[in-house]
Amino acid sequence: MATENAENNSFFLSVQRNFEKAARHTIFDRGILDQIKACNSILRIKFPVKIGEDVEVIEAYRVQHSHHKLPCKGGIRFSMEVDQEEVMALAALMTYKCAIVNVPFGGGKGGIKIDTKKYTVFELEKITRRYTSELCKKNFIGPGIDVPAPDYGTSAREMSWIVDTYSSLFPNDINAQACVTGKPISQGGVRGRTEATGLGVFFGVREACSFKEDMEKIGLTAGISGKRIIVQGLGNVGYHTAKYFQDAGATLVGLIEFDGAIYDENGLDVDAVQAHRKATGSILNYAGAVSMSDPAQGLEKPCDILIPAALESVIDKNNAERIQARIIGEAANGPLTSEADEILQSKGVMVIPDIYLNAGGVTVSYFEWLKSLSHVRYGRLEKRFSENMYKELIDIIESTTEKQVSKLERKMILRGPDEIDLVHSGLEDTMIGAYREIRDIYMAEPGVEDLRTAAFICAINKIGVAYQELGIFP
Ligand code: NAD
Repeated sequence: MATENAENNSFFLSVQRNFEKAARHTIFDRGILDQIKACNSILRIKFPVKIGEDVEVIEAYRVQHSHHKLPCKGGIRFSMEVDQEEVMALAALMTYKCAIVNVPFGGGKGGIKIDTKKYTVFELEKITRRYTSELCKKNFIGPGIDVPAPDYGTSAREMSWIVDTYSSLFPNDINAQACVTGKPISQGGVRGRTEATGLGVFFGVREACSFKEDMEKIGLTAGISGKRIIVQGLGNVGYHTAKYFQDAGATLVGLIEFDGAIYDENGLDVDAVQAHRKATGSILNYAGAVSMSDPAQGLEKPCDILIPAALESVIDKNNAERIQARIIGEAANGPLTSEADEILQSKGVMVIPDIYLNAGGVTVSYFEWLKSLSHVRYGRLEKRFSENMYKELIDIIESTTEKQVSKLERKMILRGPDEIDLVHSGLEDTMIGAYREIRDIYMAEPGVEDLRTAAFICAINKIGVAYQELGIFP
């Protein structure tokens, strides 16, 4: 268990500061607020893995920030930046995120301190499986205890190693598949999980841009079409976000990766950039675009909406003043330091906070967890029933009006929902509903200066009530 006191480091402190700023606007006693803030359990482990002829000692973490609802939920990150403070901050954000989107989980997060580029796939599998068995030994994973998911540096592949390791250690657990989300479909995953965070980011920004009066305040018009977008990080979240904006008619003017940035005011095609990256190993030198070898420069180029979708603290007091975007959509966790946040707010920039905006991943993870527990695919029971109902309805309309519905219209109307339709519509509904709740607090509560504070108030109110109604064990 953890021995270090990592609470002095800045990312965790910045989350705590945001919490306190919002807590002033709530009615809860200090004790309840302190309990909401505290990290409930912290696991810090070191384990040996044979890499080639050598034994390497791997450092890893799992933090369960809040047990007010179980299981705990949150991704697993593979990165050299991983440390206890980072995982604690990310786990805390998960607690607030789940509350905001009404997903009945406590927050959790895991991390392994490795540079994935240094290992073969086989070695990564060994590390992931060993980490999973350590979590099992310490009771830090399980369908009702703690359910990881992908995050920076991990994907469905790692989740399939985790579910396989867990299932082999608990062969009698009929719900073993619910021990992790973000799994491949063949391993019990849900359709729509891969793109969920990026799609949620798109739905959230689209909703924010739909309020004409809010857009006028920051000098923009309502709607997504024609808006100039820059996306930082072309991984799972960034790629899908960029793709959904592009498909909705926005102009993707800039893309940023760890080795540089490209900018073209006429617009970039994200799939063509990905193909170029695959062929050359970099997004740089993409035809027609200006290339910058310093990725940080890409953040400062002209645009309407900037989407950081890589790592935390990429905008700080040193570059915040030079950011030209009118909206920052925090797809990554913690991309702004507290100082940057204040500078951007004084410049009148609208910041759509991470604890709301990237909650699409955990929302669809919740749908996947429910699917794994129910052992049935979404839409399986109702698809044919809906199609038959719609067919009867059209037949009645045709016979009473004596008019024929066209073949194309018939095909569109007759389609019963597939799993992907239900997942996307559940996600859209969640993101729209949560934005409106946050905006209502922002508009109604005197002294609430930004959407982040409103989002924290929204989370604290829900968690505080849960603690009050739960009662504290005497
Ligand atoms: P990922 O590993 O799939 O992609 C990250 C991308 O960022 C990679 O392409 C990497 O090369 C790039 N990158 C690294 N350093 C960079 C830099 N300095 N500048 C520009 N690009 C850089 O990770 P992901 O899953 O897309 O996660 C990205 C962020 O979104 C993280 O903050 C994560 O916590 C957050 N997030 C992810 C999910 C999810 O479902 N995957 C959910 C919620 C939040």
